[in-house]
Amino acid sequence: MKKVYILLTMDCETARSDVTPHARRMSGSGPADYRESERSIYFYVETAKTYGFPVTLFAHPEVALENADLLQTLQDQGACLGLHLHPYKLRRGRYKYDLGAYSARTQREIIQEAMEIWTSALGKAPRYFRAGYFSANDCTFGVLRELGFVGGSLSNPGRVLPAHCSVWAGAEPYPHRAHLGFRLIRGNSDFINVPVSAAFGRPVAQGHAGERGYEWSYVPHTYDHREVIRDVLNRFQTEDPRFGTLVTDSHNDQDYSDPGHPARQNLELIFRSIGDFCEQMEMIPVGITLDTLCELVLADGEAY
Ligand SMILES: [Zn+2]
Repeated sequence: MKKVYILLTMDCETARSDVTPHARRMSGSGPADYRESERSIYFYVETAKTYGFPVTLFAHPEVALENADLLQTLQDQGACLGLHLHPYKLRRGRYKYDLGAYSARTQREIIQEAMEIWTSALGKAPRYFRAGYFSANDCTFGVLRELGFVGGSLSNPGRVLPAHCSVWAGAEPYPHRAHLGFRLIRGNSDFINVPVSAAFGRPVAQGHAGERGYEWSYVPHTYDHREVIRDVLNRFQTEDPRFGTLVTDSHNDQDYSDPGHPARQNLELIFRSIGDFCEQMEMIPVGITLDTLCELVLADGEAY
């Protein structure tokens, strides 16, 4: 039977009280404080554990500092940790735009600054990355590779959101070696990118971030999550990719401790739908973290 990888992610945002008014205008996501953050992260992981799935957490540097104990404990229990970054949310507020707006040189400077804080909090340098809004340009993969990152989940295939420098129309939909010259295609670098899984049969004129694109498993939103899972798995069955991977995402401002909370209900609906459709389509769902998936893709001998 065909395997389908299940990669559950969460972008752990700086507390809203800890960023500038400009940053709050750029991105409204984020918990009120770090206790809310901690509760959200912990119960996202716990809920996933109930269904047997591990989690990958992209932590903004301030969250790495303020929720360090929790993140380290979760890592010890099998979570994969990575760096999440909106330049304008960094303390001191020196940067005003999303990552894809910057030159290679400035991206290097911004990411390095974030890495230093993250590393001081968690004791080792981050190796996995996702930018806020999936913002990136053609320099981003190369900059990350130079800084020692081995992989990330940077793209949202089909998304068109130029206001946040996030345009992924036509992007490669499956895990692949990044191309260091052109972000939308497969390359032969040793940096691995794992795109989120868009439901190409379910286009949206305005998604949760204001984008044109497709529904996907962004847990807190009111997308039809069951139909998203069906659409993505149908595609995997038809296209038979080497690493068909269903990717969810959420934020640390959703109360996953409350079984009646809409995001918690969506998350459980996603898990049940994965079980139902995998059984119908004779696929085996395999929970995986980003570090393990990157190793698999990197070790894969198949030439593209
Ligand atoms: Zn974010």
